[in-house]
Amino acid sequence: MSVIYLGVLAHLRADPFESSDALEIIPSGALRVDEEGRIVQIGEKWQILAQTPEARCVDYGDGWLIPGLIDGHIHFPQYYATAAEGGQLLDWLAKSIFPQEAAYADVELAEDTARRFVHHLLACGTTTAMVFGSQFFHANLALFDAAARHGLRLIAGTTLMDRASPLIPESLLQPSVAQARADAETLIARCRADSLLHYALTPRWALSCTAEMMEMCADLLRAHPETYLQTHINENRSEIEAVMRHFSQCRDYLEVYQRFGLIGERTMLAHNIHASDGELVRLAQAQCAVCHCPSSNLFLGSGLFPLARHVQHGIDVAVGTDIGAGTRFSLWENLSDAYKIQQLQGMSLDAAQLLYLGTLGGAKALQLEHETGNFAPGKSADFFVLDGAADGYLNERLRRCESLGESLFCLLHLATARQVSATYVRGRRVFSQNTV
Ligand SMILES: [Zn+2]
Repeated sequence: MSVIYLGVLAHLRADPFESSDALEIIPSGALRVDEEGRIVQIGEKWQILAQTPEARCVDYGDGWLIPGLIDGHIHFPQYYATAAEGGQLLDWLAKSIFPQEAAYADVELAEDTARRFVHHLLACGTTTAMVFGSQFFHANLALFDAAARHGLRLIAGTTLMDRASPLIPESLLQPSVAQARADAETLIARCRADSLLHYALTPRWALSCTAEMMEMCADLLRAHPETYLQTHINENRSEIEAVMRHFSQCRDYLEVYQRFGLIGERTMLAHNIHASDGELVRLAQAQCAVCHCPSSNLFLGSGLFPLARHVQHGIDVAVGTDIGAGTRFSLWENLSDAYKIQQLQGMSLDAAQLLYLGTLGGAKALQLEHETGNFAPGKSADFFVLDGAADGYLNERLRRCESLGESLFCLLHLATARQVSATYVRGRRVFSQNTV
């Protein structure tokens, strides 16, 4: 039997950077979902209730039903590394991050954190996450198991480092390229057993891996076309200088990855703040996606992401929390930071564009547009419920809004993860504050 969810429905029917009527808001809306967790119908409450009187109803009243958020970049073994002092990127990694990541050699810590990490994301309304995994195989197995058990759509892989450096603890280096390959193949097979799980080859960044490791990643990417590749690019000036010193034969950072065959339509590059026009042209040609991490960029002082230039070049952009450099687990709260970063550069995003970046835009960037990102019939019922009335001030502010568009804009800036009352993936409730 199908289930009908009632509330204020808001989603993107198209790309609002291209179309002015992409945003659809239905004040007394209904979403009908079948037994398989697929969306059958979206529309007015009275109409859908009249057509299917036998269906079970879940009424969220004035709550907003919003497509599940898509976190395009987050680090699992940095779960407890948020708000860590250490200056900018390279110093911060050495001082605050690598020691934390080394702790996941401990199986118990890895299993406990995997469960908390997945639950925390679901509690924030995030239904899909692209994750830099641990350096340790057992920790990543625990992460995939936790995601499958609790219902998070997960794209993840072992964070690969095999180039020795005085800054990196030896325990974080892969013992060999052959071992890294064997572990990846085991985890790729694990992902095949559950359609919520996807594997991503994850060389941490250009200087963390040997040429052999990068070539292994390119090889597996070709051998398993369902896998992804994720890495970092153009985040911080000192990082870029170090990369260009080492790869002096390359004209820019992107060329390093291109030479190894790592750039394609299933590649996600985090940050890309200091990109040249030439790099943007080649990223667009390769249909490679970029993930903007607003709160991380602010926390590490990395720079202001040039969204307008990415949009002009037609590059798909997702948004990521980048925990632990990011200070907010909620992707929703990161969208407000994304707005402010664009304001500082003279670009004023509207509610449709912000919501797109966190939902349908992220799905498109991750090649999951056929499966999630909005309420189109046939897609998986991935959504969360935002209850503005749960907060006294927010409730009063919303009462003074003159349109639903204005209400959505207010929610984007004022609602926090505490107002998420329920989260669904494939029609299954995976988080609830028991308000219904
Ligand atoms: Zn990162």
